[in-house]
Amino acid sequence: MSLLLRALKCAREACRNEAAYAAGAASPGALSRLGRLWEVRLAAAERAQLVEDDQSMYGGRGRRWHLSDFGPVLLHLELPPSADTGLAELPVAPSLDVAAALGAGYVSRIERMMRRCRPEVRTSLSLLEEFNPAAWAQMLAFGPLRETLSLLATAAKKVRKGAAEPVAEYQARLYYISSVGCVELLLSPVPLRWLRGVAAGGAAADLGPFGVGEPDSLAAGPPRLRAAVSYIAHHLLPTAFRAMPPIVLDAARLSHNGYPITISLLRWLPLLAAARATLPWASSLLSGPEWGLAELLGCTLGQALLSGMDDVDDRGGMNSLLPALAEALWALVHLAPELLAAALPGAVAFARRVEVAATALDIDVGISGATIESGVLQAVFGPGGDSSEPELLAMLQRLLTGGAPGRDFAAAPSGSTSASSSPVVVPDLPADLAEWVAASALLLPPADLRLLLPCCANPRCTNLGGPSEREMQLPVRGGDGDGDGGGGGEQRYCSQGCAEEHRGAGPGR
Ligand SMILES: [Zn+2]
Repeated sequence: MSLLLRALKCAREACRNEAAYAAGAASPGALSRLGRLWEVRLAAAERAQLVEDDQSMYGGRGRRWHLSDFGPVLLHLELPPSADTGLAELPVAPSLDVAAALGAGYVSRIERMMRRCRPEVRTSLSLLEEFNPAAWAQMLAFGPLRETLSLLATAAKKVRKGAAEPVAEYQARLYYISSVGCVELLLSPVPLRWLRGVAAGGAAADLGPFGVGEPDSLAAGPPRLRAAVSYIAHHLLPTAFRAMPPIVLDAARLSHNGYPITISLLRWLPLLAAARATLPWASSLLSGPEWGLAELLGCTLGQALLSGMDDVDDRGGMNSLLPALAEALWALVHLAPELLAAALPGAVAFARRVEVAATALDIDVGISGATIESGVLQAVFGPGGDSSEPELLAMLQRLLTGGAPGRDFAAAPSGSTSASSSPVVVPDLPADLAEWVAASALLLPPADLRLLLPCCANPRCTNLGGPSEREMQLPVRGGDGDGDGGGGGEQRYCSQGCAEEHRGAGPGR
């Protein structure tokens, strides 16, 4: 096996320059050569997953096959080095390597490897952020639509399932690995940035008409990017938000895992807030316990408190964390002040719990009680700190003390669920937020996503049976649609249990 791995690494290295071409600019035959290499890479990883055993898990003598050895071989996709085609904006075509991987059935095979879990196999595939998020964003924009959405649905279930499983206290690292940690790549804000660029550049993002379950009914590029980002916003983010609090409360592990994923989640908040404020069907985004906004903000404030006081922590993480937090809060202050006002007390309380947990673990937070007493927000954004934000701080403190929060633009008439209603116009927004509003107008309502990929209507479903979400049978019929996007379509469930759980949870949730 190690010989095979070495051979694969060599082959990948040998093709590296070629693979980094844009798909249109390669030499003839390169695509099929790379495609054959991808076939071998994927087949070897699938084999590893099926035959790994205790010996291979724990590195005993004769260690043979282990899926994690294939992680780098699988998840490393070459991109053209040019900045234009990397992070900055959605390229017009995928890189040759991405195109070759797609040709080998990459997306559906990755999904299958993510779904497989005990007792069938020991480990399932994790999508870690150490690999290239821009390559993954290409997958989302150029991959086969239903397979991509199916992968995202599986990712959401993986997070939900991992988060629901009991983990011993202070085992947050395990909890992290089995929940949000396994889908880091899919939470990256790269596709979000691209969507914003698409909105600003007026690139062809029209969807045209599409019907139930039509395979690939949206064109590659901007339309598929729209669908994928929408799917992440509706399905993956709420579960990811909910999974965070226990991870952060285990403050000892914070510097390991807390930062990158929290930063990713915060980066999504302006888009969600903009959608919520302006799109009638999106008024439930970020609301309610499914989202746990207070906890997410509290997590972050808590992290900011701790790492602001702990010199051991990498400042790199802090440097990105605080701007992301400030940007998210800024967007919420303007676009969803009432929501933020409702979430802030809980967030501050949660931040204090983080601090208490750190003290209990004997982590030297090096903070004087007086700083905390003067207020969590003050400690993070007050004068004298690295991240002094006097204007933001003043607005937040007004919200916290119950001052007039201003208007919450999401006050759409209840029951208004028509996906075609024109967006609410929010006056006098800072330019930056206006761009988020424009990007949010490209999001698809949940009803359209259901047309593209029908799946179990229970938002708590964790059924990972079968090779993919798109092939899952939905034999149980429920009541009418709950109207979270209009359409009033019939609800379908994967099982009687899911139907009952959903009904028991009340309409709409
Ligand atoms: Zn289900």
